[in-house]
Amino acid sequence: MSKTLYHHFALFDGITDRFEPNAYFVVDDETGKIVETGTNAPSKADRTVDLGNKFVMPGLINAHTHITSDVSGKLEPLGSPKLTPILATKIALDNLQDLLKHGVTYIRDVGADFDVDIELSKLEKGGHILSPGICASGRPLAMTGGHFCTIGYEVDSPDEARKAARSALKNGADNIKLMATGGVSFGGESPDDVQLTEEEMRAAVLEAHHKGRTANAHAQGTEGIKNALRAGVDSVEHAFYLDDEAIQMFLEKDTFIVPTLIAVYGISDRGEGQVPDFMLDVAREVKKAHIESISKAAKAGVKLAMGTDAGTPNNDFRNDSGFELQLMVEAGCTPLQTLQAATVNGARLLKIDNEFGTLEAGKFADFIVLDGNPLDDIKSVQEEKRVFKKGKEIL
Ligand SMILES: [Zn+2]
Repeated sequence: MSKTLYHHFALFDGITDRFEPNAYFVVDDETGKIVETGTNAPSKADRTVDLGNKFVMPGLINAHTHITSDVSGKLEPLGSPKLTPILATKIALDNLQDLLKHGVTYIRDVGADFDVDIELSKLEKGGHILSPGICASGRPLAMTGGHFCTIGYEVDSPDEARKAARSALKNGADNIKLMATGGVSFGGESPDDVQLTEEEMRAAVLEAHHKGRTANAHAQGTEGIKNALRAGVDSVEHAFYLDDEAIQMFLEKDTFIVPTLIAVYGISDRGEGQVPDFMLDVAREVKKAHIESISKAAKAGVKLAMGTDAGTPNNDFRNDSGFELQLMVEAGCTPLQTLQAATVNGARLLKIDNEFGTLEAGKFADFIVLDGNPLDDIKSVQEEKRVFKKGKEIL
């Protein structure tokens, strides 16, 4: 077995709360898995890589993307009627390359046209494409006329939700995405609108859990968030309006929040003159409440996973995963909370933590090499970095 020794760096392994100086790990070149870690490196290995006294942490896990959405403005956004399966696949492959080059080594896609993410996930797992790992949801479940119903399954009863969830699972979905409320990006609905009912979501969540998979809900208004929590989802996405009861429910049910602060920021702070006025108005209206909600949840100890909603306006597949961490710190999360949200917590939410999310023996060598310590300055994650996926450097 040929092995590579990586040494001369400070390591945040995802488990402890600090960067350990003088760290090393040894990677099995065949499997891409770490076989040994420690401090003060052994002198012998087949190949030795000196990481120049830099800062090493697990590759980022982005738990909320839409890879079939083009954000350059040259092709088509998510759900565009002009998208074809081939175009959606081309956009997704480009986005996956951008994610990987910028340090995102695993994603959960939560709503893709034509189930493109499911097919690409199969190719990645088979080693046929070089890409971040993909936990795929395929097409989401929404009520008739509900949020992103145009790309999803329209369901209007618990039985229809059960049928759609079973279909998605049959097609290969790892996660079931549910639309519990309206959103920011469409006219004719608001973030407070209740959409899928608790009973409809519970039927779908049960199907996912029966197969050992997960379910999550887009939920922005308080009532929809509570419906999703009572339905038993594994994570609530966005969570704009949290009252004390909602925060208590997150703690009792041990449910994750994926804040996606950049999704609102991309519209409220970058969208002037680019997005329709109604979108700007809604984003600016919700922004303050959203930040306060995430701040309160973080301080109360609600589990957070990092996700960006990449693919929404001005919300890219490059450095906006790193920028999300900065926004989380600005909202009141500790730097450690954000690093854990983007690594170990993401892996736990996606149920991939037996092989990903931390850097220890038995886990894949998915890691990034940073010039600065992100616990001192979270912006370090956005700077130029080296990225390794399963022990291979991404160039
Ligand atoms: Zn989304």
